[in-house]
Amino acid sequence: MTAPRPDGARRYPYRHLLGIEGLSPDEIHFLLDRSESYVEQNRRADKKGNSLRGRTIINLFFENSTRTRTSFELAGKRLGGDVINMSVSTSSIKKGETLIDTAMTLNAMHPDVLVVRHSDSGAVRLLAEKVNCAVINGGDGSHEHPTQALLDALTIRRRRGRLDGLTVAICGDIAHSRVARSNIHLLTTMGTRVRVVAPPTLLPAQIERFGVEAFTDMRRGLAGCDIIMMLRLQTERMKGSFVPSIREYFHFFGLDRDKLAAAKPDALIMHPGPMNRGTEIDSEVADDIDRSLIQEQVEMGVAVRMACLEVLAENLPDPSLRNAP
Ligand code: ASP
Repeated sequence: MTAPRPDGARRYPYRHLLGIEGLSPDEIHFLLDRSESYVEQNRRADKKGNSLRGRTIINLFFENSTRTRTSFELAGKRLGGDVINMSVSTSSIKKGETLIDTAMTLNAMHPDVLVVRHSDSGAVRLLAEKVNCAVINGGDGSHEHPTQALLDALTIRRRRGRLDGLTVAICGDIAHSRVARSNIHLLTTMGTRVRVVAPPTLLPAQIERFGVEAFTDMRRGLAGCDIIMMLRLQTERMKGSFVPSIREYFHFFGLDRDKLAAAKPDALIMHPGPMNRGTEIDSEVADDIDRSLIQEQVEMGVAVRMACLEVLAENLPDPSLRNAP
């Protein structure tokens, strides 16, 4: 259905997608434009393309995931690729050793793209240095989650027609969130005004260096915003206690009708999932079909992952040329 469009190497001249940091506005627009072309295809009865025919994609997840793994699996299959899922528990193993061993074992099976999620920041880059295939970062510790930021950007761009000139408030556990980091890099690169809103314990020191404005009061942080991104408390990454109680956290930082009223009257609500209702967001606003983009984000996720897999596959050297003079 989809003919190969080998402009990837020119417009996105990289072997991997390890993070958003360092990408140019043109490279980001290119990935978003390519994603856009898959939104319609995914709504048809026949969703199948063939640009990944013959390609093997391995989802290698050292950390739990439901939506990201499923999304990459669907994306690979919808483009005709073969997709294998591997979940690896890190609980009782020496992580560094196992990571490299696993990478080398998989490498020997000639995959074309590895999608890797790991609880340690930097682990995916380390793995990418050891393998011959392309690597997509599916989330590494509190570092980056590039496809989440791309799908968020696609969702915003489709709804608002642009990214520049908008004001986006990212609220909640900024300190431990890879979603926050990737979104900050992407949005500031695209000319969006970014605010972060959190209790002081969940705001990284000197966060303003990333070109964002920091707030510790929700109503002040949300005033005049176009988009509100809520984040889950990343308790699995917390060492110690960062909030006095869930009840108090929801009272001051949970998004409800009352706090939402501080934003623009047509402000839209986003959340990367999984959502903790009653902790960072109230059901009434999460389920408001006029304001919440949460389901649309999931839909855009598949289109974005199709685009990323396809572009990286286009950039791979042709194996039949490997031994050519
Ligand atoms: N699913 C996102 C992530 O993997 C957000 C979250 O888990 O809170 O980072």
